[in-house]
Amino acid sequence: MTRRIPLAEPNIGPDEIELVTKVLQSGTIALGPYAAEFERLLAAHAGRAYAVACSSGTAGLHMAVRALGIGDGDEVITSPFSFVASANCLLYERAVPRFVDIEEESLGMDPGLVADAATVRTRAILPVHVFGNRCAITDLSAIAGARGWHLVEDACEALGTTVAGRPLGSFGDLSVFAFYPNKQITTGEGGVVLTDDPELAEVIRSLRNQGRDQDGTWLRHVRLGFNYRLDELSAALGVVQMRRREELAAGRARVAARYHDRLTGVDGLTLPRAMPDTQVDWFVYVVRFAGGIDRNRVMDDLAADGIPTRPYFNPIHLQPLYREFGYREGDFPVTERVAASTLAIPFSSRLPDADIDYVAERLTRAIHGP
Ligand SMILES: *Cc1c(COP(=O)(O)O)cnc(C)c1O
Repeated sequence: MTRRIPLAEPNIGPDEIELVTKVLQSGTIALGPYAAEFERLLAAHAGRAYAVACSSGTAGLHMAVRALGIGDGDEVITSPFSFVASANCLLYERAVPRFVDIEEESLGMDPGLVADAATVRTRAILPVHVFGNRCAITDLSAIAGARGWHLVEDACEALGTTVAGRPLGSFGDLSVFAFYPNKQITTGEGGVVLTDDPELAEVIRSLRNQGRDQDGTWLRHVRLGFNYRLDELSAALGVVQMRRREELAAGRARVAARYHDRLTGVDGLTLPRAMPDTQVDWFVYVVRFAGGIDRNRVMDDLAADGIPTRPYFNPIHLQPLYREFGYREGDFPVTERVAASTLAIPFSSRLPDADIDYVAERLTRAIHGP
């Protein structure tokens, strides 16, 4: 009998079920106290003055772009090695993503390439922390500061990671975390925008809530807003997940350490490694293959053993939607080379040691034979 191991799996325990049930029984399932409590926990975690919880990370990024007044024809420098939402949020506002290639080490945008991508229309940079590791955020932050650009920090994969003790999500004028079920903590669907700027926080609260004013008068709308609110069931789930954050992080650290131990020394395999000064809470566990290893064949072999895997990421500029803007193969060689050689293997906080060993053994065998 082959095992079935999930690629990712949320860690939902009795406390989550109890609190969500309590919310259901209370009758207040939207616009209640748990969203505010969740926001308080997130702001405290990231050391930010304000947190605005919302319905997804994508919604958070969209509101960040809108709140900064980035619109028609404005350019934002960002990374093509990411989940598509970090570029789509610009298209929603008819702004133009200006992609720059990534660093081989961090897999985030290369600060040395930013100057070449800058134009008079550049309004912001939108760096992405990939897989839970950090990008060159201090350098990128300094560049944004020197140029007078906004910094939107996509920390959707990086809740819990710190650089020199400072949490990711604390660097942007606006920073965003996401809570889809495969992220470090989950609310089902959900996200949050973090800032220290009271005016931006107020605009984002209004954008989230149909453009209503601060006083929230129900049928008075002062700007074009959205319904990007987080419901109370999701918020209550998030409250418990935030309380358990360190426990969940410890589970992932155990899995990462065991993979590292079992896979170290396998020829042709590069394992994930934290950037300097960085304490990583991994979002996914992504290995890289040396040239000559047929990734598709490895994936097929593992699938036959009940082990799902996924190439991470397909570059944004090569997505069919983005090719329409004229991008093509060869535009961002580091991104394309990395994308062609990476594979996410099963990773979640409760993955049993025996499953980790099984994945490691089968992966080694798929690469080198029995
Ligand atoms: C998960 C993620 C998002 C947001 O995704 P949602 O599913 O909308 O919450 C944004 N950017 C990156 C890099 C992500 O991984």
